[in-house]
Amino acid sequence: MKALDELIESFDEKKRERLLSLVDNYQLTDSQTLELLKDEADLELWQETSALDIFDYPLIDSRQGKRKAEELMKELRSYTHNLRYSPTDYSTFNPPKIIRAKSEEEVFTDDSIRLMGKCPCPVDGEKTRCCKLTTLDAVSQCAFGCSYCSVQSFYSKNKIGVVSNLSDRLKCIDTEGIWHIGTGQASDSLLLGDSHGTLSALCEFALSHPDIVIELKSKSPRRDFMKMEFPRNMVFTWSLNAETIIKKEEHLTATLDERIESARIMADKGNLVGFHIHPMVYFKNWQDEYRKVVEKIVATFSPSELCQISFGTLTFTKAVLQYLRTHRTPSRVLSMPLVEAAGKYSYTLEIKEEMFKTVYSYFPKEFKENVFFYLCMEDPSLWMKCLEREYSCDKEFEEDMKKHYLEKVRASSSSKV
Ligand code: SF4
Repeated sequence: MKALDELIESFDEKKRERLLSLVDNYQLTDSQTLELLKDEADLELWQETSALDIFDYPLIDSRQGKRKAEELMKELRSYTHNLRYSPTDYSTFNPPKIIRAKSEEEVFTDDSIRLMGKCPCPVDGEKTRCCKLTTLDAVSQCAFGCSYCSVQSFYSKNKIGVVSNLSDRLKCIDTEGIWHIGTGQASDSLLLGDSHGTLSALCEFALSHPDIVIELKSKSPRRDFMKMEFPRNMVFTWSLNAETIIKKEEHLTATLDERIESARIMADKGNLVGFHIHPMVYFKNWQDEYRKVVEKIVATFSPSELCQISFGTLTFTKAVLQYLRTHRTPSRVLSMPLVEAAGKYSYTLEIKEEMFKTVYSYFPKEFKENVFFYLCMEDPSLWMKCLEREYSCDKEFEEDMKKHYLEKVRASSSSKV
């Protein structure tokens, strides 16, 4: 079992010996062993007491035969269940010191990068409500260090790939049926600014395709690109989060205020802006902290300046879970139920409903009526409960989003002075 072997190897020698002797003494099955190792890796990630130090060994030893292993697993599950299902406590967590390992010097041109792709929602069926976003990956890998990020596990860790001949390659793409392109899936859209001509090439493409909306998504503190002029069908969005999550989990990124200020500058230039309150984390005091995020948006922008606001939560693939568990940079993002949903692992629907509904309720009526709110990659059953509207299929969602985005782009173009 590759996953099991990788996990065993990831522990230091002393811990590995203790774990293996426990497995041996209590004759754990392979699946019990895997569960124990995953939980122990998570406990290390969270900086919590090791499972090895919480077991009631006299009680376990008093059981007979297989009941010993069953008692041990019962105690393990009870311990981790409490941590996974209650709001994460960040007051006892010390974030790691992350050094900017990848800088512009590590950027290499990589013209083999596959340029166009599709949103990473599950392809089969409509298990999540998906807007069918077309993705454009001109840059791959990121220099920031968000602890939940899947990009870190996809690409070679120390190299940032950038397409050098983007302008030429964009001239060759088949745009049939494309109306919305997102550039923030394989990196941060503004990580490199225009240092490698990426934004200039996107401007050129946007100007020649006025009915295609290009969406940039960022957490970058970078502002040098703001002296450029951008066509109105380029929409600038920032991912926002509660201040605690930015400080403890989104390493090296801009502060909440810096992100809002950057968006304000772009809105002052006449460009449409938007926000992704994503990934929301269920932690102690989440209500107050997300309320403050909403208050900052509402105090700084008018609804007409905003193209969209999306909500989403932490969601992990099996591959990313294994990557986080074997690399073990301290983080509490996996301190969550990790229930399976559409092939990924996330919060329960009840926790998601509570968070989305609550945060949506913080927005005033004029925002709800004039800004396109949506749930990103979420179960269709959550829409009506959280946003007071729903779609019968992905196509309907995509058409509605297209109508709203293009209306806003046209309104912003006509107000251009
Ligand atoms: S900014 Fe985006 S791409 Fe970069 S590490 Fe964070 S989530 Fe990943």
